[in-house]
Amino acid sequence: SKSINLKQRPVGTPTLSDFEFKELDNDLTVSEGEVLLEAKYISVDPYLRGRMSDAKSYVPPFKVGEPISSGIVAEVLESKHEDYKKGEFVSGLLEWKEQQISNGEGLQKVDKSKAPLSAFLGIVGMTGLTAYLGLHEIGKPKKGETLVVSGAAGAVGSVVGQIGKILGLNVIGIAGTDEKIDMLKSEFGFDHGINYKTTDDMKAAIEEAAPNGVDIYFDNVGGPISDAVLFNINQFARIIICGAISVYNKTEIPMAVAVQPFLVKNSALMQGFIVRNYADKFPQAMKQLSTWLGEEKLTYKETIVEGFENTPQAFLDMMDGKKKGKMIVKV
Ligand code: NDP
Repeated sequence: SKSINLKQRPVGTPTLSDFEFKELDNDLTVSEGEVLLEAKYISVDPYLRGRMSDAKSYVPPFKVGEPISSGIVAEVLESKHEDYKKGEFVSGLLEWKEQQISNGEGLQKVDKSKAPLSAFLGIVGMTGLTAYLGLHEIGKPKKGETLVVSGAAGAVGSVVGQIGKILGLNVIGIAGTDEKIDMLKSEFGFDHGINYKTTDDMKAAIEEAAPNGVDIYFDNVGGPISDAVLFNINQFARIIICGAISVYNKTEIPMAVAVQPFLVKNSALMQGFIVRNYADKFPQAMKQLSTWLGEEKLTYKETIVEGFENTPQAFLDMMDGKKKGKMIVKV
C-alpha cells in the first residue's frame, strides 16, 4: 500500500515533481475503536492548492513529506469500531493512502442505494452543498432574476446553474472551452454560455447575454472575468464569492479596482463563505438535492480518472480545466 505525499511546496503552478509516492508499512493492525479503510474514490479539489502553500488559511497547510488529504469514499475492510461494519462504505477527509486506519472521527456512512459512491464527493457531497447553500444563503434568488456563474462547467458551477433554472432564473455560464459551453446549454439547461478564452470583450459579452443586467453573480474564479461581471450588476445585486481559482497559482495577488465603485453605486452585497459555515443546514440541503436528483430536475457530470497513481495528474488537470463536471479518481 502506498501514500501520496507533498514533496515540496509548489511555487506558482504545481507540477508532478511536487508530489511523491511512499511505500507504507503493510501491517495495518486495527486496534479497539478503529477501522481499516480502503480508498475507493478520491476527490481532487481547487482548495487543496491553498493547503499546499504555507499561507495562513481556514484549514492548516499540508506538511512537507506527509500525505495529502481530501474527500475520500472508502470501504471498511475490518472494524473494531461499534459504529462500522466490514463491507460498509464511508466518506470523510482522509489521507491519500490506498489503505489507512481511522478512529472513525469525521467519518460519515455512505448509503450505496441512494446514489453511486462517487456522487458522495460531488452532487450529494461537498460541491453540491456548496452550490446549494452559497446560492440560497447569500444569493437569495428570486424568480425572473438573472444569475451569472463563473467556473460554470465545473463541479460547483454546473450545479449552481441548474438550481438557478429550477428556481426560474435566467442563467448565464462562463467556462473555458466551446465543448463546455455546449454542455452547459444542452445538458444543464443554461440559457447562455460565454467562453472566456475566446471572448475578447467579456464586459460586452455579458451585457449582450444579460440585457437586463445581473442580479446574482456566483463567483468561482475571481480576476478579470469577475471585473467584467461587476460592470453589469444591477441595483441590490448579490455577489457570492465562492472561490478565486484564477489566482490560486499566482505568486502575487493582483489588486482589483473595479469592485468598490460598482458595489457602492448599486448598493450591492458581496460575501465570501466557506461551505462548513452552514453545517447546520447540510441535512436540509442534502434532502433537497437528493429530491431534485430523484425527480431528474438535477443531473451531474463526472470525469473519472482510473488509478491511485494518477491522483496528482488528476489534480493538475482539474486545475487546468482538462475535465468536465466533478473530477474524481477511482482507485
Ligand atoms: P471545478 O470543477 O470548477 O474545477 C476548476 C475549474 O476552474 C477548471 O476546470 C477550469 O475550467 C476553471 N479554471 C481554472 N483556471 C481558471 C482561470 N484562470 N480562470 C477561470 N476559470 C479557471 O472546481 P470546483 O467546482 O470544485 O470548485 C470551483 C470553485 O469553488 C473553486 O474556486 C473552489 O475553490 C471553490 N469552492 C469553494 C468552496 C467553499 O466552501 N467556499 C467549496 C468548494 C469549492 P475552465 O475550462 O472553465 O477554465
